[in-house]
Amino acid sequence: MSVLSCYACGRTVEAPAAPRCECGEPRWFETDPDALAALSWPDSLDARAWAFADLLPVDPPAAGVGAAAGGTPLVRTPTLDEYAGVRTFVKDEGLNPTGSFKDRGTAVGIELALAEGADAVGTVSHGNMAMSTAAGAAAAGLDCVVCVPADISAERLRNIARYEPRIVRVEGDYGRLYYDALEVGPERGVRFVNSDTPGRVAGQKTTALEALAQHRARTGAVPDAIVLPTSSGGHASGAYKALLELRAAGLLDEATTPRLYLVQAAACAPVAAAYRDGREDVTRVERGETVAYSIANPDPPSGTRALHGARETGGGAVAVEDEEILDAQRRLAAEAGLTVEASSATALAGARRLAADGELDRENSVVCVATGSGFKESVGAVAGGEVDAETVALDELGDRL
Ligand SMILES: *Cc1c(COP(=O)(O)O)cnc(C)c1O
Ligand SMILES: [Zn+2]
Repeated sequence: MSVLSCYACGRTVEAPAAPRCECGEPRWFETDPDALAALSWPDSLDARAWAFADLLPVDPPAAGVGAAAGGTPLVRTPTLDEYAGVRTFVKDEGLNPTGSFKDRGTAVGIELALAEGADAVGTVSHGNMAMSTAAGAAAAGLDCVVCVPADISAERLRNIARYEPRIVRVEGDYGRLYYDALEVGPERGVRFVNSDTPGRVAGQKTTALEALAQHRARTGAVPDAIVLPTSSGGHASGAYKALLELRAAGLLDEATTPRLYLVQAAACAPVAAAYRDGREDVTRVERGETVAYSIANPDPPSGTRALHGARETGGGAVAVEDEEILDAQRRLAAEAGLTVEASSATALAGARRLAADGELDRENSVVCVATGSGFKESVGAVAGGEVDAETVALDELGDRL
């Protein structure tokens, strides 16, 4: 039997149940206390994200794309230390099957749907979560409905359509759709796996669990901080839950718990604004344009929980400008060989900003979570348009190199 609980008011309920508590805040899965008591740091993480399967509400899938989720490398990037002002590590989530950490949450969400006997899953997304959910459903033999905004770009639509889900363009308030889908989905037999539904958050806590275990295996200690691009707050909620569980298991204590920092694009930064103003509640903001479109949720459903988690770990939230994001994205590629999408580059830009503000320093070991691959964006967006390459005749090459 699985139990869902509310971090805010403590109420619990047996699963399956609505993803949100009576108090309005999101629920998450309680983790088996016996599994926590038995937890130890793994020596090796060769066995993909399911290394932490005992802390999840489902058994690992035996086959399919869900079995291949997670297990991404933690890359030490000394060539970025000077720029960032900290000792940098990059958790490369772009190496997941559909190019983002969403595959971790999708894998758990799909297994839950199968366990409940569902025929169809759905999601509300026009980006990575849509691709991930459609791919996971395809591999599991489930129907999939993806609700996208009516004005979605052709490029993004093609990226989702390759997995052949049913795609519904929805006209109207896209923020409200998140709530409406969760309400009408069950009536229509569609299990929605939205950005912060409990199964997705459970799966997505493995990013932080893995990153800490990998850092510890490499250096003998966990990192000082985790810097995470944040939109809905689902991934950040998972990271916070991971830290709570490692505390409960006795593998971290107050002094060793890494600080969780959330990064947003300045043009759409409801969590960072609440942090800056000393507020507990994250409230809706006007959505401005930003290159970091994967993290531009103006009304994040798990924003308040994510901010609570960041504060509880001694971290915080910060906003960075588009120029800082693009500069960080360029350096990740040109100075560390890593191709990340703009939204993911906010992690490095955020670490740099936090170091400049004195929140982090050169002695600090920091995991920047590169949440998604840059390979699915058109190259123009990455290289900035003009490419500087000279033309040389073959028999002149020797003189011109
Ligand atoms: C979804 C996504 C995020 C934001 O994650 P949330 O759980 O919505 O906060 C960040 N980066 C990328 C690349 C994403 O796809
Ligand atoms: Zn509650």
